[in-house]
Amino acid sequence: MPFAVTPYYLSLIHPHDSTDPLRRVIFPDVREGVVRANEHADSLGEEAHQAAPGLIHTYPHKALLLITTACAAYCRFCTRARMVGRSCKPASLTGALAYLRRTPAINDVLISGGDPLHWSNTQLDDLLGRLRRIPHIDFLRIGTRMPVVLPQRITPDLVRMFRKHRPLWMSLHFVHPREATPEVARACRRLLEAGIPLMNQTVLLKGINDRADIIRALNERLIRMGVKPYYLHHGDMAAGTSHFRSTLWKGRDIVAALHGNTTGYAVPYFMVDQVGGGGKLPAGPVYFK
Ligand SMILES: *Cc1c(COP(=O)(O)O)cnc(C)c1O
Repeated sequence: MPFAVTPYYLSLIHPHDSTDPLRRVIFPDVREGVVRANEHADSLGEEAHQAAPGLIHTYPHKALLLITTACAAYCRFCTRARMVGRSCKPASLTGALAYLRRTPAINDVLISGGDPLHWSNTQLDDLLGRLRRIPHIDFLRIGTRMPVVLPQRITPDLVRMFRKHRPLWMSLHFVHPREATPEVARACRRLLEAGIPLMNQTVLLKGINDRADIIRALNERLIRMGVKPYYLHHGDMAAGTSHFRSTLWKGRDIVAALHGNTTGYAVPYFMVDQVGGGGKLPAGPVYFK
């Protein structure tokens, strides 16, 4: 996977601290070359569930549309490290759109990549329009880390275009409270003012955010910015990510420590993606027996 970071995100990293958690998110590490026995390049079995180029159909009523392999910054723990940043040429989505048109069971499309906001406003407008014209598709969502790594991308023009395609929801991707800066808060406010509800997905990362106080600080900042903490993901079995993977026990303990000790809105679901494409499952904790 290539190295890329925005000047903005680089400015958040302490230049003289080699242990800065934000540095570890972005800078390559020799341990990426260590592939453990249970790890796979495609640990979520996405290739097996590919219904058309770029379209992953794992669940009956929702589909994942991967529209680009490019991101503004590459997170070293990426579940799609096998493909991101590899080819600049976007796959044609003709087959994916045809599949969506002829599959009325799908009413929810999650646009991801790579980072979908790498596309131009015109390209996104065109794609969202095409999806909107499919009558059985009710929910459109965009999964993006762009507001976090390049908040300058959230321009008035972009949100004006998004506004036309509502209801449109967004899943953001914060992993550390230091990512919740005033610039990012402004980008989120713009999206919220355009009527785009914002959710967040965090990956539990060993030594970076696998402590209750860190997740609580992050989630409370998110709530203040109008972003709902949705999922806390256990690190999946992507090849070369073992140095980032925390434990199921820690994930459960963090969510249990949050419950009752912060606003309920700040408590996420702790999720585990099953190897091979079984889908995501809530992994506890169980409180009521
Ligand atoms: C995560 C995911 C979705 C969306 O799942 P939700 O739980 O509804 O957010 C859809 N398709 C695939 C393949 C996924 O991995």
